[in-house]
Amino acid sequence: MKKKLNHAFNYITAILIFICAMTVSLSIFLVKVQNSIDTNSQNIMTSTVSHQSNHVLSILQIHYGFLNSIADKMGKSSELLSDENMELLVSMAENTDFERTALIETDGTAHYDNGAEKNVAQRRYFQEAIQGNETLSDPLESSVDKETRVILGIPVYQNGNVIAVLGGSYNVTALSRMLFNDVFDNSGYSLIVNQNGEIIAYDGDPAYHKITYGDNFFKFYERKNLLSNATLQNVRQDFQNGTNGTVKLRTASDSATAQYLSYTRLGMNDWMICYVIPVADAQESYDFIKTDESILLGVFLILVLLLVFYIIRANRKQNEELIRTAELDGLTGAYNKRATEAHINKILTQMPDEKGTFVILDVDKFKDVNDRYGHAVGDTVLHELAKTFFRHFRKDDIIGRIGGDEFVIYMRNTESKEIASARVKKLIENVRSLPFEEMKRNHVTISVGIAFVPEAGNCYMDLYKNADTALYEAKQNGRDGYHVYMGT
Ligand code: GH3
Ligand code: MG
Repeated sequence: MKKKLNHAFNYITAILIFICAMTVSLSIFLVKVQNSIDTNSQNIMTSTVSHQSNHVLSILQIHYGFLNSIADKMGKSSELLSDENMELLVSMAENTDFERTALIETDGTAHYDNGAEKNVAQRRYFQEAIQGNETLSDPLESSVDKETRVILGIPVYQNGNVIAVLGGSYNVTALSRMLFNDVFDNSGYSLIVNQNGEIIAYDGDPAYHKITYGDNFFKFYERKNLLSNATLQNVRQDFQNGTNGTVKLRTASDSATAQYLSYTRLGMNDWMICYVIPVADAQESYDFIKTDESILLGVFLILVLLLVFYIIRANRKQNEELIRTAELDGLTGAYNKRATEAHINKILTQMPDEKGTFVILDVDKFKDVNDRYGHAVGDTVLHELAKTFFRHFRKDDIIGRIGGDEFVIYMRNTESKEIASARVKKLIENVRSLPFEEMKRNHVTISVGIAFVPEAGNCYMDLYKNADTALYEAKQNGRDGYHVYMGT
């Protein structure tokens, strides 16, 4: 029994070690996959924002090119504020993306396409352009129509000297339209902010961004109670240095709202282009891996369960086989003495009302068989006799070999003593008629003692004793017959 327990313990330990090893390897594998997804998504974010930056810059370059060609024409005119030049201004405003155009004299007096005039000498874009640079203003609210605009300014040359500045302004929404957000299925949003985080332009699905003009990027995210303030500090530092990067922003309250923020320098002014998208959206294209992972885990679990089930079954079968062989007599396949006694006693205690017949059989003059034909032939005879007993009695009857040539048979549910005795008589006749080739077709006979349950007893020892008394009588009566125990 102890050995059996040890077996089961060893199996369970092996399975547990296997499950632990598989779980650890799977966990490492899944974490690595998740890390790769994270890294890949961040790389895509980084390249997306860099594309956005190039995209906006190239559009601006096209606009500067256009402004330059107009400025060339204007520079050729003998008079700066000539009718042709003013007509060009109006035509530009009417036919291009520029909402407002202006020709600004060196003293800062700006002449607008709509006829308005204003001095912009203090504006940075004017000061830079008059020095010969292409410039771009921060968003400015127009005192004329209260719209917020950014202004592109370029110098107008005549004979190598800057004689004026040509300006064209966009509504900031036009600038926003230059941002594209068609990566990741239009999720997320793009922003242009300056180094201090002031919003210059934004575009994207309103479902994602609650940010607007006049907001400060950093204050907006500070209010969101991010898990790691250090992350935001690093972003602020990167903005100051004009370096690019991608970070994951997570709020303490809800990990589902984690977002990737990617940013890079636009290359104009101190502007940074930012791209923000929920992590879940950025990783959506990897969702199939999660499905595969679930399938993998499911299959693994089923396999482990099957393995456990198989091992338990194999173990149980092996144990049953061990118990069975431990109960059997090797020569005849009948129960051995100990098992015979145990099985009969079990029936007697569990079914006290069942009528049964306890039978002892002993081969007659078996010593002679051994002496005449040898021990091996004796063994064959015992084996053949047992086979005959198995054929003769019912499946649930107990057949055991309890000594050299001595067998016990317990016939269950005996209908009547007469029928039981008749069965024994028939057996004696069958045995008598068995020809043994090994014994030159000679025959053997058996003597039988019968004890009925419950009259002759209700435990193995009593029944054995009484049936043995009857057997003795059968032997005394000349063998090859049976005797029924009738009591003393
Ligand atoms: P009786 O009619 O009085 O029973 O005479 P018997 O010669 O059969 O006497 P008994 O039953 O006392 O002797 C049984 C003999 O069975 C003794 C032994 O030599 C023989 N024997 C016991 N076990 C084995 C065995 O496993 N194989 C063989 N071949 N012989 C055995
Ligand atoms: Mg005998």
